[in-house]
Amino acid sequence: MIRAEHIKFDYIRRDGEDNVIAVETAVNDVSFEVKPGEFVAILGHNGSGKSTLARHINALLVPEEGTMYVDGIDTSEKDMVWEVRKRAGMVFQNPDNQFVSSVLEEDIAFGLENAQVPEREVTSKVKAALELVGLEGYEKRSPSSLSGGQKQRAALAGVLALNPEILIFDEATSMLDPKGRREVLAEMKKLRDCGKTVVMITHDVEEAVLADQVILMGRPNGQKDPNTVLAQGSVREILTDSRLLIQAGIVPPMAVRMYEDLKLVGIELNRCPLTKEELAEALCRWKSEN
Ligand code: ADP
Ligand code: MG
Repeated sequence: MIRAEHIKFDYIRRDGEDNVIAVETAVNDVSFEVKPGEFVAILGHNGSGKSTLARHINALLVPEEGTMYVDGIDTSEKDMVWEVRKRAGMVFQNPDNQFVSSVLEEDIAFGLENAQVPEREVTSKVKAALELVGLEGYEKRSPSSLSGGQKQRAALAGVLALNPEILIFDEATSMLDPKGRREVLAEMKKLRDCGKTVVMITHDVEEAVLADQVILMGRPNGQKDPNTVLAQGSVREILTDSRLLIQAGIVPPMAVRMYEDLKLVGIELNRCPLTKEELAEALCRWKSEN
């Protein structure tokens, strides 16, 4: 369970003499809840505070105001930081920045050793983690020799080796080609299906469609106010609401735009589709009925 209660966070810039020269409120009054086993997308345009929130979930940042709870633990409790990180693992945007070793199995083992996993368990845990992401047989490979999608799956294996309940993907597909993107999205679905809590951070509405719930981030009054949660609900509720999305600076899903354009020319589908498959289905239905 992840619970954010009225979180505020400022980035503070200091000059060489440690004087504060700028304060930027990245997020303000953010409250949301993610239940165990949910697949949630945190959706927002660039700069809407998504990464700031992600870093709060695994205690890389702690709120200035408000409280972040992960599995009931207040992340601002200093001696609980590792407990929080054990529960919430993160895969980042850049697949090249996530490895410390030039041999994949050593890289994953390093993370386990850091977490003080007994040495005799390390080999089997490395193997199991690579199997989970379909990279068995890649133990001796160098992470740099892998494709983008494989790199992100390898980074995920490093996180999964520690068996966290919560997986956070911070724009983990945004630097990948379409194939790599599909691979990583498939991993997210697989994790959700085996009961993990998945938090997908994205600016891509077509990816957010894959989640069950959406937390929409942005500034409520254009540039004046700091970022906060604009809306939270089921994928269907949030992503078919074009007005809301446009207000948040997000282009609605292609299927939703088509639905609305068709309505303007007198073609009324019986419900608003979210994906191109649903759109095709609704169009066939309309055709057979008209
Ligand atoms: P997102 O991940 O949605 O693109 P971020 O959480 O990275 O958004 O950023 C939210 C706001 O905080 C932005 O206005 C950004 O400019 C600012 N910000 C992010 N990181 C820093 C930083 N290290 N120093 C100063 N400001 C930052
Ligand atoms: Mg970001």
